[in-house]
Amino acid sequence: MSKYDSLRFLHETRALEEHKCNKCGRVIAIGEIYYPEKSPTMSINTKDSDLREFCKECYEKFGTDLLNI
Ligand SMILES: [Zn+2]
Repeated sequence: MSKYDSLRFLHETRALEEHKCNKCGRVIAIGEIYYPEKSPTMSINTKDSDLREFCKECYEKFGTDLLNI
């Protein structure tokens, strides 16, 4: 893992639009809690497409290990 990646974290968020879990492929419906990946440096270095999002089920199963997949 690079120093840059270690800064990333998962932030609990309520979905305002539909998302798709990057781990299991499940659709995250509007109003559901999900866990998008955030990076403190994203405004400068990171494109939106670099950041993944995960459903609550995967977060409960894998926690922050999701950042390493
Ligand atoms: Zn999932």
